[in-house]
Amino acid sequence: MATANFGKIQIGIYVEIKRSDGRIHQAMVTSLNEDNESVTVEWIENGDTKGKEIDLESIFSLNPDLVPDEEIEPSPETPPPPASSAKVNKIVKNRRTVASIKNDPPSRDNRVVGSARARPSQFPEQSSSAQQNGSVSDISPVQAAKKEFGPPSRRKSNCVKEVEKLQEKREKRRLQQQELREKRAQDVDATNPNYEIMCMIRDFRGSLDYRPLTTADPIDEHRICVCVRKRPLNKKDLDVITIPSKDVVMVHEPKQKVDLTRYLENQTFRFDYAFDDSAPNEMVYRFTARPLVETIFERGMATCFAYGQTGSGKTHTMGGDFSGKNQDCSKGIYALAARDVFLMLKKPNYKKLELQVYATFFEIYSGKVFDLLNRKTKLRVLEDGKQQVQVVGLQEREVKCVEDVLKLIDIGNSCRTSGQTSANAHSSRSHAVFQIILRRKGKLHGKFSLIDLAGNERGADTSSADRQTRLEGAEINKSLLALKECIRALGRNKPHTPFRASKLTQVLRDSFIGENSRTCMIATISPGMASCENTLNTLRYANRVKELTVDPTAAGDVRPIMHHPPNQIDDLETQWGVGSSPQRDDLKLLCEQNEEEVSPQLFTFHEAVSQMVEMEEQVVEDHRAVFQESIRWLEDEKALLEMTEEVDYDVDSYATQLEAILEQKIDILTELRDKVKSFRAALQEEEQASKQINPKRPRAL
Ligand code: ADP
Ligand code: MG
Repeated sequence: MATANFGKIQIGIYVEIKRSDGRIHQAMVTSLNEDNESVTVEWIENGDTKGKEIDLESIFSLNPDLVPDEEIEPSPETPPPPASSAKVNKIVKNRRTVASIKNDPPSRDNRVVGSARARPSQFPEQSSSAQQNGSVSDISPVQAAKKEFGPPSRRKSNCVKEVEKLQEKREKRRLQQQELREKRAQDVDATNPNYEIMCMIRDFRGSLDYRPLTTADPIDEHRICVCVRKRPLNKKDLDVITIPSKDVVMVHEPKQKVDLTRYLENQTFRFDYAFDDSAPNEMVYRFTARPLVETIFERGMATCFAYGQTGSGKTHTMGGDFSGKNQDCSKGIYALAARDVFLMLKKPNYKKLELQVYATFFEIYSGKVFDLLNRKTKLRVLEDGKQQVQVVGLQEREVKCVEDVLKLIDIGNSCRTSGQTSANAHSSRSHAVFQIILRRKGKLHGKFSLIDLAGNERGADTSSADRQTRLEGAEINKSLLALKECIRALGRNKPHTPFRASKLTQVLRDSFIGENSRTCMIATISPGMASCENTLNTLRYANRVKELTVDPTAAGDVRPIMHHPPNQIDDLETQWGVGSSPQRDDLKLLCEQNEEEVSPQLFTFHEAVSQMVEMEEQVVEDHRAVFQESIRWLEDEKALLEMTEEVDYDVDSYATQLEAILEQKIDILTELRDKVKSFRAALQEEEQASKQINPKRPRAL
């Protein structure tokens, strides 16, 4: 009976097709329609199954390798196709398309189906054999319709039945194709080394009862609030983080046994709040920084930190959306906090205080402070006799409305990253501090510091071969440890806060000591498997800031207490000849409190760095003074020389004055030279100390 010659076209193979808009892509042949010499093809587009009937000629012209070897003339006995067949086919086709859109079940794991859908043409052989093994495609719907068509009197009802039958068959075939696609998807992922892990995570998640945070949840009052925010997954990575409830974060860490079998190590952490990747900035703000706005109106100090590895969403959270061309800082916590500050000002209670609002924006890089509102001018941090810390010359700009604040954020951000090829390359190495300050008749009333911290993975750069990187790493390592200890001290009302151990904690000192101080830390994490180690480090750090136990019945500090052998640090100290200063005392305290993270060698390195940085400051300051002095010397010497040109100048006076100048010069220059010498020695000590750092210590904080 076959009249049409389909050449090498078979059901289940992939062919090139041309769409009405001119696009050419691959589609799977799902039926061969003898009657009108066409084939029906299907493909997936935007997640839906689409179908189309294409005449053989078009198929052959696009797929010449499928053309029959010899053209067979159609047999003269072939009866003309029934007039209704094409119509039936059309009806069925339309219905099928609708049905497949409706019935396509949503996949539980988009990635699985997504990856298979993205590459349908990779497995033509597999799919064709699988398809042919099934019973679906043995008879095309049109053939079936033609075979079973009865006499004209029963034609109408038969036709309806037929359409239903065809519909059923198509549905069955569609389901089989769906199964096939799923099987293929599995095949795809079975070749993926992480397929097994992915399944384990999926099964684990299947057993969980999800109760995520909602805006209806109560906002608790915390003096210290620690929460975690998971950012959306980067494409092609495996999500190893689950946030099943409003305060729990789970990490599914892939591990391998000795016999190479893989398993998941599921670790659970509890925080004050846990934000899933679907939580927008507004939601994060609502539970974190927003409750702190009131604190500064109540004459308190507030701090809010974003802590995490580079790329985990710190800047997105604090500063707003900076991806792409349209930078929008209005949705960051800086701007949202400013918005509420101006709303609060209007409340009768606060309105009568006649408060003025100011903002500062600065950056701390390698222990140095730069003003982002004043062309990155380097600023000095001074501490007076009463331990009051001052950032000398920091610009405080008055702001009257949110727009004023947005402008400042914009200025600061462009200043922060100017001359940088990537915003992240620079910001990963520096802390950005944005402050909203309330003043009453010029006197400080309250201060809100919002900090976008340096990437915590950079704290591990202390053993880099490059000094600059090492110093950056040392300062980051030190400042993040100091920050943790300062917050812990705040929470426990400890008498001493090691704020001097780093510039960051030093400039934020007043926020940690006040009676009415509150702080919030947002630990941002990337959910990808590739970031697992850094994510665990971030979670451990956040956990240490405020130790909330997973089991509410367990309590107390469960940290193992480890001590370095008694005199090891002291010995090393003598070896490197580092003396004592308030800075170094705090550093020592800090390292003692973090013995697991800070090996004695790392401590020594930190000391060597601190000493080196102090010396560098002194040398540069002295050099500047000598330079100024030299100008005065030049003038004096010029006057002396002019004196000698006079006929009867006083030789005695000339010689005495010259000698005095030279002696002064020699004294001053010798002193500077000696300082430079010991500074150079300190540089070498730092280099040596960096080589001694125990490589076994944790990679990041
Ligand atoms: P970090 O400051 O921690 O280095 P970024 O905030 O720059 O990280 O985030 C890295 C990238 O991820 C940016 O392109 C950012 O827009 C995007 N991103 C981060 N967090 C989110 C989020 N919650 N939703 C959408 N995109 C995000
Ligand atoms: Mg950033």
